[in-house]
Amino acid sequence: MNTKKYLILGAGPAGLTLANKLKEAGETSFLVLEKEAEAGGLCRSADVDGAPLDIGGGHFLDVCRPKVTEFLFQFMPEKEWNVFDRDSKVSINGKIIDCPLESNLWQMDIDEQIEYLLSIASAGCNTGEKPPQNYTEWIPWKLGRKIAENYMIPYNTKMFGDEIDNLGAYWMEKLPDVSFEETLRSCLTHVPYGKLPCVHRFYAPKEYGYGEVWLRMADAIKDSVEYGKAVTGIDFNTLTVTTTDGSRYTAENIITTIPWMEFSEIIGMPEEIKTSISELKYGSVEIEYFPDNVDTSAHWIYYSEPELAYNRILFRHNFYYGSKGYWTETQGHRLQQSDRNNFRYLNKYAYPFMTKKKPEIMKHLLEWAEKHNVYGLGRWGEHQYYNSDVTVGVAMDMAKRLMGRTNK
Ligand SMILES: Cc1cc2nc3c(=O)[nH]c(=O)nc-3n(C[C@H](O)[C@H](O)[C@H](O)COP(=O)(O)OP(=O)(O)OC[C@H]3O[C@@H](n4cnc5c(N)ncnc54)[C@H](O)[C@@H]3O)c2cc1C
Repeated sequence: MNTKKYLILGAGPAGLTLANKLKEAGETSFLVLEKEAEAGGLCRSADVDGAPLDIGGGHFLDVCRPKVTEFLFQFMPEKEWNVFDRDSKVSINGKIIDCPLESNLWQMDIDEQIEYLLSIASAGCNTGEKPPQNYTEWIPWKLGRKIAENYMIPYNTKMFGDEIDNLGAYWMEKLPDVSFEETLRSCLTHVPYGKLPCVHRFYAPKEYGYGEVWLRMADAIKDSVEYGKAVTGIDFNTLTVTTTDGSRYTAENIITTIPWMEFSEIIGMPEEIKTSISELKYGSVEIEYFPDNVDTSAHWIYYSEPELAYNRILFRHNFYYGSKGYWTETQGHRLQQSDRNNFRYLNKYAYPFMTKKKPEIMKHLLEWAEKHNVYGLGRWGEHQYYNSDVTVGVAMDMAKRLMGRTNK
């Protein structure tokens, strides 16, 4: 068995960035193991009905991290991307309003605006109440009862199912408070207020799907990636991993970007940490393609209505030029039997859930694993709600940290 200096599990954005950064620094002793036949993870695309479709759900590259976009442009130059100002909307009781809802209440009927304004005025964040730790209590505290009841709770119940009651509020704490005064001003002047939402400007490839940039990154390290290698076991005593086809790989350092739940056999880890892994929660998403064009300028619309199984529609004709049709995103717990013959793709691991227990579980797990030269990285390795630009950023930092540590 050939021992590598770095064994990277998973060829999604995290694994690919780390591998390419190691290569850039002159490192040659690394190997990436990927379960699928292709790299890119949740950011993969497929050609469907003559145009690209993001099989992991709608993916757009935020413009706001220049170090990350510069790095990605090494593989897919900026001229190969279109830039868009985000046009996203929410559907609330059948009415379509610009996103985010709290900045665009002025688009509601007058009577409704008054009700929303009154509920914002009495929201806990505006009356000086202490912020609750539970997500479902925190939403009305932050946005007011009316936005909570009419939009946020129904939408998030679609996203998280029964787990919504187990979520903490810590992952939303950076959101600015909704100001009564600013909301009132917005309703009077018909101008949205507040900070622009995350990914308010984004890149989307001109000719390809979002998956293309990751395929190119994988191609740059093609001799150091093995596909069809589903890792199922890890031995912390010998730093060995095993795959479903019976292969074994040993390394001086293992960097795992795959969900911790994928390890069905773990050797050398204390039982209480092993048990805590089974308490990590996650959600799945299925995308389904429909060939019709829709008369909307939106790139995507969020749907809060419980009677609709899906929670988001992406109108690809508005961002992949020359394409037609749209796709829906439906959470795993809401999938329904259908005899439609549309293209569908189910992503088992889509959303790491930010449960109340998660920070403590991950802190212990990652600290303990690092002492054994095993590092968790990315959306699944860290069980964090990272977008791909953030994932690339943390993988770039990890490369620096590993090279600094092992070159000492
Ligand atoms: C619906 C949806 C929409 C999103 N929209 C955006 C967006 O607009 N913009 C944005 O920047 N980000 C978006 N994201 C987030 C983005 O998908 C992630 O940040 C990114 O994919 C994380 O990269 P990763 O490498 O950490 O994980 P992943 O992409 O999940 O990659 C993990 C890799 O590990 C592999 N793997 C899993 N199990 C095993 C195993 N047992 N053995 C070997 N390999 C294995 C997988 O096949 C995969 O290739 C979205 C995510 C979802 C679900």
